[in-house]
Amino acid sequence: MPNMAMQKNPMPSQQPEVRNQNFMEVALGYSAETAIDEAKRCLNCKNHPCVSGCPVRIHIPEFIQKMAQGDFEAAYQIIAESSSLPAVCGRVCPQESQCESKCVRGIKGEPVGIGRLERFAADWHNAHCTDRPVKPASNGHKVAVIGSGPSGLTCAGDLAKKGYDVTVFEALHLAGGVLVYGIPEFRLPKAIVQKEIDTLADLGVKIETNVVIGKTITIDELMQEYGFEAVFIGSGAGLPKFMNIPGENLKGVYSANEFLTRINLMKAYKPNSDTPIQHGKHVAVVGGGNVAMDAARCAKRLGADVTIIYRRTEVELPARREEVEHAMEEGIVFKFLTNPLEIIGDERGWASAVRCQEMELGEPDASGRRRPVPKEGSEFSLDLDCVIMALGTSPNPLIKSTTEGLETQKWGGIIAEEETGLTSRTGVYAGGDAVTGAATVILAMGAGKNAAAAIDDYLSK
Ligand code: FAD
Ligand code: SF4
Ligand code: SF4
Repeated sequence: MPNMAMQKNPMPSQQPEVRNQNFMEVALGYSAETAIDEAKRCLNCKNHPCVSGCPVRIHIPEFIQKMAQGDFEAAYQIIAESSSLPAVCGRVCPQESQCESKCVRGIKGEPVGIGRLERFAADWHNAHCTDRPVKPASNGHKVAVIGSGPSGLTCAGDLAKKGYDVTVFEALHLAGGVLVYGIPEFRLPKAIVQKEIDTLADLGVKIETNVVIGKTITIDELMQEYGFEAVFIGSGAGLPKFMNIPGENLKGVYSANEFLTRINLMKAYKPNSDTPIQHGKHVAVVGGGNVAMDAARCAKRLGADVTIIYRRTEVELPARREEVEHAMEEGIVFKFLTNPLEIIGDERGWASAVRCQEMELGEPDASGRRRPVPKEGSEFSLDLDCVIMALGTSPNPLIKSTTEGLETQKWGGIIAEEETGLTSRTGVYAGGDAVTGAATVILAMGAGKNAAAAIDDYLSK
């Protein structure tokens, strides 16, 4: 008998007043009993609409049926056929706009907690299964992957499973892309990412860190001198945008990328870390996306009063609703309909205030959202000692500038076929944020998967 409860089983979590003072994971995960109970909410629909909402096409009803029977390892194995990063996706996928948005249980109540169940199955496997995957026999072909974010790791994993000799080149000293340098520990523990990367290493994937393709070595050299027959570019979109207002060069002004990298990758919040981070008392974060929420919640955990400045209203916030609610519960203050005009410095050259203007919503713009327009005579000043700009990012132009014949969009995105990731250069494929601009983990994984299939077609002809 299915469980016809209208609501999902709630996710046990650290209390807001406790968690806003530590970097440990906020969501604690289901127990086995709760996971089975939640799995029983699935109706095992014949036409499984949920699967069409998953960019890597996980066999959702099949894995959930195994969960309902308490066979968690079998559930994991079904997920692993389609996804190389289930413990990651179960935590950070925007499920509400992906698989769960298509779930029929969502018509008259809440959808099945597909992401929560996926997380449980992956964590169960990691805790109970010590068997390591076996490296497949080599097929003699060599492929290079640029960037070790979710698109690159997925492409590398899928190719390694088919016997390709895959090397991932990563500019930073640790693999994982945004999963390790951007998304904070309290949403995605780094040990979980590392475990998923170790699984790829068992499959034979080699990861070379501290190699900047375009500087240390070019794509042309990889293909002509090092014998790589195909290349996948998954270099992401890590170039931060600024507002170009006066004062952005002052000390105490960070891009969200730099602030989060110092905290997540360099562990700047730990007392013995070599990397400094400013422990501002009054911090303003400019922007309203997931990155702004992450930066604000990190600054809060460093002991600051934090204000998010956003030029539209709460309704238009682009961040996931769950992240906004978590930020509000943790005591982050939101200043809506507010736009910074200038960051004011003190006599030492440090940011000390931000001059703002109130906004109101006008006619819709090209994105369909109502355009914020300045309100006459509404300027005011906010005292602070640290400003974090979370205004979006674009692809880094480095690879294109050192490689012949790779076509890009005006804004920097690499031009690649949607189905295959093939770029304007034979044998060179691309996907993830490097192609689409800042998007999501699962879309990047979907692109890596499609490109791996296309590279396999190309090299096995
Ligand atoms: P990335 O993850 O950016 O990885 C690219 C990698 O390439 C990096 O490691 C980079 O160092 C490396 N690289 C770049 N240039 C070179 C070069 N020249 N040579 C060698 N290596 C290079 N998405 C979600 O789905 N859910 C979330 O909750 C979520 N939260 C986010 C929070 C933050 C703070 C940020 C910044 C993003 C978040 N995203 C989230 C978006 C998501 O992380 C990205 O869409 C996704 O990581 C893109 O994957 P990718 O593989 O294309 O690139
Ligand atoms: Fe849903 Fe993401 Fe899991 Fe796919 S990977 S089933 S979209 S949570
Ligand atoms: Fe189960 Fe929902 Fe998918 Fe139907 S749509 S199979 S209820 S998860």
